[in-house]
Amino acid sequence: MPELPEVEMRRRFVETHALSLRIKRVAVPAPSLLDGVSAQTLRRALTGQVFETTHRHGKWLFVRTSAGRWLVLHFGMTGSLGCYPTRDAAPRFVRMRFDFANGLSLAFIDPRKFGKVGLTNDVQSFLQDRRWGLDPTAPGFDRAAFHQILRGRSGLLKAVLMNQRVIAGIGNLYADEMLFQAGLHPAARVEDLKPATVDRLYDAMTEAFAASLAVDTDYERLPERFLLRHRNGAGTCPKCGGTLASLANAGRTAYYCPRHQRKRS
Ligand SMILES: [Zn+2]
Repeated sequence: MPELPEVEMRRRFVETHALSLRIKRVAVPAPSLLDGVSAQTLRRALTGQVFETTHRHGKWLFVRTSAGRWLVLHFGMTGSLGCYPTRDAAPRFVRMRFDFANGLSLAFIDPRKFGKVGLTNDVQSFLQDRRWGLDPTAPGFDRAAFHQILRGRSGLLKAVLMNQRVIAGIGNLYADEMLFQAGLHPAARVEDLKPATVDRLYDAMTEAFAASLAVDTDYERLPERFLLRHRNGAGTCPKCGGTLASLANAGRTAYYCPRHQRKRS
């Protein structure tokens, strides 16, 4: 599932491939992805416009059109973007397509169809109406903000980290990475955290996002010490040499090291 760094890569993809091109046609082969907008309204809003700029908040991607409205994209479980000459064979699973006047197409590709496509007039009110949490890479989200967000909460730490209304952008993979680096068991509870542990979680989060973006989210190229590199099968823990394990937790499969992730706070 695309998390914050993966959606940031899609934002950069739009910046590189799809800005300043006149939209000639909008094709909606999978109307079920439309969220609060009809295919007709979407076509009317976009045809003849150009995409001018992008914004990302958590796992949401916004693309502003020359008419001032924003295309809203959420990639669900398997959503991605592609760009190819319109006349060529389209890739599989294209659910939405923007054909540009220069003969290129931008495609929203989504095999499992959990993605969403919508429109909004204003990004801030879109986020506020849905009560999404802060984006941890936005200006102003610092160590103190992270402490403040976790203070006074209770429950499974991993579930809190993955709650998009608390912090927008962390999913299963990066939550596991944070717990791994901070030495916390997947069943750690947020009310048990000491301030020094919250500091370690914050450092792990910022390091994981930065490292992942530095390798274009290609986990194979990450430094050895990241759990993201070791999620397939029972590998060896790069921190302590223990044997990595998995367990069902917070509705997802958690990967962790039972040797050094024993502490619950
Ligand atoms: Zn370990």
